[in-house]
Amino acid sequence: MSNQSNAELKHFMQGLIKRNPGELEFHQAVEEVAISLMPFILDHDKYRVGRVLERLTEPDRIIIFRVCWEDDLGNLRVNRGYRVQFSNCIGPYKGGLRFHPSVSLSILKFLGFEQIFKNSLTTLPLGGGKGGANFNPKGKSDREVMRFCQSFMTELTRHIGADIDIPAGDIGVGAREIGYLYGQFKRLNNRHTGAITGKGFDYGGSLMRPEATGYGCVYMMREALSHAGDDLDRKTCLVSGAGNVAQFCAEKLIQLGAKVLTMSDSGGTIYDAEGINEEKLTWIKELKNVRRGRISEYTKQFPKAEYLEGKRPWAIPADLSFPCATQNELEENDAKNLVSNACQAVCEGANMPSTKEAIDVIQAAKVIFVPGKAANAGGVAVSGLEMTQNSMRIHWSAEEVDQKLLGIMQNIHRKCVRYGETDDYTDYVKGANIAAFSKIADTMLAYGVT
Ligand code: GLU
Repeated sequence: MSNQSNAELKHFMQGLIKRNPGELEFHQAVEEVAISLMPFILDHDKYRVGRVLERLTEPDRIIIFRVCWEDDLGNLRVNRGYRVQFSNCIGPYKGGLRFHPSVSLSILKFLGFEQIFKNSLTTLPLGGGKGGANFNPKGKSDREVMRFCQSFMTELTRHIGADIDIPAGDIGVGAREIGYLYGQFKRLNNRHTGAITGKGFDYGGSLMRPEATGYGCVYMMREALSHAGDDLDRKTCLVSGAGNVAQFCAEKLIQLGAKVLTMSDSGGTIYDAEGINEEKLTWIKELKNVRRGRISEYTKQFPKAEYLEGKRPWAIPADLSFPCATQNELEENDAKNLVSNACQAVCEGANMPSTKEAIDVIQAAKVIFVPGKAANAGGVAVSGLEMTQNSMRIHWSAEEVDQKLLGIMQNIHRKCVRYGETDDYTDYVKGANIAAFSKIADTMLAYGVT
């Protein structure tokens, strides 16, 4: 990066940190984007004069609200709910809801900011937003989760709508929570609209939406390998997480002939040297989605596997890595382990799972690295397709949706290559950031001063 770029970047980041004190995850997400964009902005005076990056890093609005609900013992409980409506430049606000005790404004701003870029890459008319609450569904009964969701939606409903803002799931918000949220939305508004995605198929959801993020991530890895003259066949894979994204990432890897060695949850990692096959994965899905148990139980069921308590998968030698759990789960030392174990590629199923230092190590070693905003865009892309089907009042077949998902992932890959190719390395971070940005920035300029 030139001296001028460096100086501009420093100045921009100082201003951002001053305007958003203490929001570390938000600073991290913006910095990663700004590093890629600054030289591009300095090359295009219209973006610099239009102060596009300053405008884009200031959310359109943030809604913060109290969520009161009663637990099964009749105690009154209070949580904090949020919706960050970050940018509706190229379409209505779109992005998931996260229910997790770690949820804070910083985390939702980082997620909402990433979502603007991710949604732009899908080529669908979707803006960026994110929401959630510091509510922990773990250990709560179904009825407690229902009461929480109903209370949360009672406030959120006035801010969302099929042409305004369309929430979906994220960590802690799966099929059960979407059912309760949509049920309450319908009750309050007395209408069916595509105002939420990730709905059950019977009440307006899209086939393949549950699979979309994980499958899309594997499609992206296959494209990146093929671009480097390689394929997925018999590759050993580290998958972290055991939720929706990890489950379907593992499923598609198994279907395409790769070998999945690990999955994990916040307690630790299971390492199955024989490979997690379809039957074992079905058992994990039941464990996590129905019994809501811990991944440590896997070794009781399949005793040849190991449980690495408190550990993440990244020290285990393997060809490919898929961080599919949560932000900052892959740190500098993990990246050094991956590189020294000759890992060929990292494809992010989660949002910002790798720290900046980790990405630097991976890219310096010329290991393929596809960031979440490109690699996990399949989820929101199929949410966009769910919106289309709702508007048209039709259902596409699973094959049709899967084909469209594949086409979208291939198109994202092409765009990353177009903007990120250098002599000896494809920089997917730079490629994704510039491809996503130029479309949003040009639209912003077209609107004038807004
Ligand atoms: N939470 C997912 C994401 O991070 C999906 C969002 C959506 O479908 O709107 O992209």
